[in-house]
Amino acid sequence: MTDFSGLDLIEPLRRALSAEGYSAPTPIQAQSIPHLLGARDLLGVAQTGTGKTAAFVLPMLQNLAKTSKGRPSSGRPRALVLAPTRELAVQIGDSVRAYGKFLRLTSTTIFGGNPMGKQIRALNGGIDIVVATPGRLMDHLNQKNLRLEDVEVFVLDEADRMLDMGFVNDVRKIANLVGGNRQTVMFSATMPASVGKLAAGLLTDPVRVEVAPQASTAERVKQKVMFVAKPKKRDLLKSLLEDDGSISRALVFTRTKHGADRVAKQLEQINVRTGVIHGNKSQNARQQALNAFKTGRLRILVATDIAARGIDVDGVTHVINFDLPNDPETYVHRIGRTARAGTDGQAISFCDMEERGYLFDIEKTIRNVVEVHDDHPFHSAEIANANVKSGGSKNKNHRNGGRNGGRNGGGNGGGNGSGKPHFASKGGKSFKPRNGQKGRPQGHTGNRGNNSSRAA
Ligand code: AMP
Repeated sequence: MTDFSGLDLIEPLRRALSAEGYSAPTPIQAQSIPHLLGARDLLGVAQTGTGKTAAFVLPMLQNLAKTSKGRPSSGRPRALVLAPTRELAVQIGDSVRAYGKFLRLTSTTIFGGNPMGKQIRALNGGIDIVVATPGRLMDHLNQKNLRLEDVEVFVLDEADRMLDMGFVNDVRKIANLVGGNRQTVMFSATMPASVGKLAAGLLTDPVRVEVAPQASTAERVKQKVMFVAKPKKRDLLKSLLEDDGSISRALVFTRTKHGADRVAKQLEQINVRTGVIHGNKSQNARQQALNAFKTGRLRILVATDIAARGIDVDGVTHVINFDLPNDPETYVHRIGRTARAGTDGQAISFCDMEERGYLFDIEKTIRNVVEVHDDHPFHSAEIANANVKSGGSKNKNHRNGGRNGGRNGGGNGGGNGSGKPHFASKGGKSFKPRNGQKGRPQGHTGNRGNNSSRAA
């Protein structure tokens, strides 16, 4: 399929897609939209960046527009989208408005940190589509500010993260309040057993669509690891940003909020335009930093995982893991912030001694060996050569059957002289271990190198 004409979308939607500059559906859209227009339940495995939002928003808008009888009753939405974070809810709300701008449907976005009153007024005005985070929606439900019996389309986006964030009980309560005759759509970047269980309880005979294998790494992201002692990480970051002008818009991930603040402060001291988002920042501060990053006023956005979840910023050239996550799926989410919508991107991970085990688990999950970059003054051969197995990752499936042996990661002047790792398969991409082939080949020397709106 080369354009949207094969998808049976109504003219106002096709016009909105042209206005967005989309010329053809992405694979998840091509696979999902026909089923969703046919009112099937759907379970989609897709990461942010694949176009999954339009995959569920377009058919939702079309089905609602076809059965619309004018403005809905006060506090009785016809569609409900749940998202784990404020940022993601705002982005989905923006997409609903953009794709629905030639339709007469109303939408509002509801999340914590904003005054309830404004949200109540919007709901009272009669709203077709509510996009919400589970916690704030529960507050409104408890205060009887809205009822969900009229919901015809119920979407859970980023279900895996919703569960990670402890929203399972809220989600179940909300699902029980939604009318029985609904269409239910669930998207998740990964499919752990907990998501499967939730899906089994909420979906009826769902179509399953998947655009990338479970936890597969975003293919276009060029990944590198730099072995560095913990106290040297800040100097390494500083030298990277000073030396590499191609890092023009980078997300830097830290494990803790304090760590994020410390890194940002240090970058500001060397005049790198930097913003920070994490859970201790007010919603306004987070949105301001995100906007400044989106518009290019900031070169760096330092973030913790929860705050960064679902961030959709075009043109992120680099994701820098200042700290490696102890959960491989978080790594996959992080690096998926770059190389979006067909562009290239790089992920650079700093790995200290304690994090060697995390790297082990990550490589096992992504089924790739991450290229070593040792050509820098802070390289630690001791860390590179450490003989480490699983790092106690949260993902226990990956604990056993590990590879043996550390990396002969360099500092020894080796290399294959090609500027590419000698296990590269193509285009410098990392080697994929095949059956029985485990781990980095020995002797490897690394590479040298609240907004209520009328949608109409
Ligand atoms: P999502 O995975 O929904 O977060 O979407 C990722 C990005 O892809 C967003 O910036 C969308 O605006 C963009 N996008 C979605 N669908 C298309 C399409 N068919 N063609 C081009 N870009 C798209």
